[in-house]
Amino acid sequence: MKILVAVKRVVDANVKVRVKSDGSGMELANAKMAMNPFCEIAVEQAVRMKEQGQAEEIVAVSIGPQVCQEQLRTALALGCDRGVLVCAENEVAPLQVAKILKALVEKEGVDLVILGKQSIDSDNNQVGQMLAALAGMGQGAFACKAELAGGRMDVTREIDGGEQTVSLKLPAVITTDLRLNEPRYASLPNIMKAKRKPIDQVTPADLGVNTASGLKTLRVSPPAERAAGIVVESVDELVEKLKSEARVI
Ligand code: AMP
Repeated sequence: MKILVAVKRVVDANVKVRVKSDGSGMELANAKMAMNPFCEIAVEQAVRMKEQGQAEEIVAVSIGPQVCQEQLRTALALGCDRGVLVCAENEVAPLQVAKILKALVEKEGVDLVILGKQSIDSDNNQVGQMLAALAGMGQGAFACKAELAGGRMDVTREIDGGEQTVSLKLPAVITTDLRLNEPRYASLPNIMKAKRKPIDQVTPADLGVNTASGLKTLRVSPPAERAAGIVVESVDELVEKLKSEARVI
């Protein structure tokens, strides 16, 4: 089995981001960047499948500027075999990302695509679903368990109020939820070994995809400031304030 894992470069989850003063986006100059946390879970799932002898090759793909090679190197250090950087200087919208991934699936002859359920920077939660639809593949979105069973993937999905298990014919698409696994850290020897693993570079045009998008960000604004809290002296005072000021009881 050949697995394609999509890894996105995003602002590190621990960075407190600020909105640019002109409201055109987030202030990311000099911010620490990292692999999208849900993509780390996707890489871990692929690596575990390879360790269990269920996959022969894992290809990691990132779409973005040259610096995305850092996240591809991390994926290689975690156990992916080779990387593909699809070079794009400007941000690529979810539909165009999905079209690029579809082209790669066809070019590489992939059996399973594993993606994060959502990017923590744009919170789209769209690419996996769009890819499955465009490529006509079954999808197991928000996976908290995924097992190969008789040439199919049994995927347990986190849904409102419970879980749902689906059986997917390969090739298929899985998007990862938090409980699927706990990603490992890359060891120093593996970080060194990853430097020798290949990363191919292609452009969206090489894959026949036009990255022009119909999507335009109009404005980004920070959440409304919350009023400062107050300290009350007693439960009676708390109840009184909840009744008369907050009017919630
Ligand atoms: P989204 O639909 O944007 O929330 O992203 C869901 C998943 O799609 C991410 O966790 C990645 O696995 C994949 N993805 C989205 N954008 C990119 C990108 N530029 N490069 C690689 N993978 C991406």
